[in-house]
Amino acid sequence: MKLLIASNNAHKQQELREIFDAIGAPVELIAPRAAGIAIDPDESADTYEGNARLKARAFAAALKESPVARADSPLHWVIADDSGLEVDALNGAPGIYSSRYHRRAPGGDGCAALLDELKATPDDGRTARFQCAIVLIDPGGGEHTFFGTCEGRIAHEKRGIGGFGFDPVFLLAGGSRTMAELAPQEKHRVSHRGMAARRAVAYLAGHAM
Ligand code: IMP
Repeated sequence: MKLLIASNNAHKQQELREIFDAIGAPVELIAPRAAGIAIDPDESADTYEGNARLKARAFAAALKESPVARADSPLHWVIADDSGLEVDALNGAPGIYSSRYHRRAPGGDGCAALLDELKATPDDGRTARFQCAIVLIDPGGGEHTFFGTCEGRIAHEKRGIGGFGFDPVFLLAGGSRTMAELAPQEKHRVSHRGMAARRAVAYLAGHAM
């Protein structure tokens, strides 16, 4: 089956591919560009699920209009992911505004900005979690939602070169490594996105594959 990724973010596309590959799911993930789709939908909802739905619906509508996708096969599913980091000392911020937080940080360095905001916060106040909502749209327009969470805390300095976003400052619960110090498949085994994607694949396996 074919699944259109409702994201232009290369990191997300790559992580979803790696997660689906590790499961061995018989799914071909298609990037918007390969389907002749060039849209950048608003993320104006106030929940991860709401934003994932907005993206999934916008890409599903674009898919119907795409001559490339229509010539290929009309029976595409769509997958959208919305995710973010919730820091308890910041009352859950940046949350759904996580990507905006990076864009607005000096030099685009959201990790440095977060470390600065928390510079007076002791270890026991630095708890945080990544959240992910995945929305699948089936070829009939039906919607299916899956969630994943990954608990941890914010480090005192950046470490590691893997992953993206807040990975260099996110320490896994009970561990001493940041998410950016994990190999990709190690990250996916414990990550919010890995958890939500495995739930989505389990649903597809029972209903569509
Ligand atoms: P979205 O594209 O609106 O879902 O934005 C997600 C934002 O949340 C990213 O720009 C990152 O700042 C953060 N984020 C989500 N997932 C991860 C992850 O796996 N690692 C690091 N940061 C993440």
